Amino acid sequence: MKIKEFYGRGRAVLSFEIFPPKKEGTLDSVFPTIERLQVLKPDFIGVTCGAGGTGGRNLTVPLAAAIREKCGVESMAHVTCMSSGPDDVDRIMDDLRASGVQNIMALRGDRNPDLEQKHDFRHADELVAYIREHGDFGVCAACYPETHFEAPDSATDLRNLKHKVDCGAEVLISQLFFDNDHFLEFRENARREEINVPISAGIMPVTNKKQIERMVTMCGASLPPKLVKMLQKYEGDPVALTDAGIAYAVAQIADLLTEGVDGIHIYTLNKPDIAGKITASIRSLL
Ligand code: FAD
Repeated sequence: MKIKEFYGRGRAVLSFEIFPPKKEGTLDSVFPTIERLQVLKPDFIGVTCGAGGTGGRNLTVPLAAAIREKCGVESMAHVTCMSSGPDDVDRIMDDLRASGVQNIMALRGDRNPDLEQKHDFRHADELVAYIREHGDFGVCAACYPETHFEAPDSATDLRNLKHKVDCGAEVLISQLFFDNDHFLEFRENARREEINVPISAGIMPVTNKKQIERMVTMCGASLPPKLVKMLQKYEGDPVALTDAGIAYAVAQIADLLTEGVDGIHIYTLNKPDIAGKITASIRSLL
């Protein structure tokens, strides 16, 4: 099933994101995680991929295939311009077709001078267009409530996003954010630009101060003062910080659902316990 078909059915779509193991031959190690995520009944699970170096041929595709085959949950394989030129994308699409995976998240990936990277597709819009032209896949793409860090301003970023949608991106999934006002303002501006595809809100449960500080530096999201206070208060107590992070994510999601968000996309970081606690608290609100 194509991911866009989950939307517009009178309830918000719930999706998860996981990452594959890094080493070849270790796919089995993630099966307990996907089995525990499956029981939470997400509509779909996306599988990330590295930004370069492997021609896109890592464990992303086998894991996306396993999610469908073993768990019966719809899945989506991430593909980046940085790891894949047209030949790689053709091979990935062949592998996906062979395993019944019908959805691709088309991304540019982050530039990394330490990795060998491809430059055939300059931006995700070109990858989106290529996939739509050469395959029959549902295509999702990324969006940035606080503006992508390379964009000169939010208006330019939105124009580029509109072009990406016009190239064939059917669903947008947002970068993580911790202040819903950023997301709601972005959504309003996107609709004004006639970006009319569903937009799922990306939610990252905070469970580790250093990790979240590293992530926001990398992706340009901001930490609201109340979250900084929370991190400071509980940084020395991992159990309390995890509980506080879950409570923060649940409050954020409840507010977004009240505002009629199209979908909630939880960056699970392969931690089914945390995804489970959040899901249990929001299930009846979806
Ligand atoms: P683009 O859409 O190409 O945008 C990147 C920048 O270029 C923006 O500033 C945009 O305004 C600008 N731009 C876009 N089109 C044009 C154009 N035609 N001309 C000029 N400028 C343009 N990274 C990974 O490596 N692996 C993953 O699995 C992964 N999963 C992700 C999942 C989600 C939900 C999100 C939000 C991000 C993910 N990323 C992943 C990170 C992503 O690769 C980076 O954020 C990257 O910097 C931008 O990717 P993009 O697809 O948004 O790029």
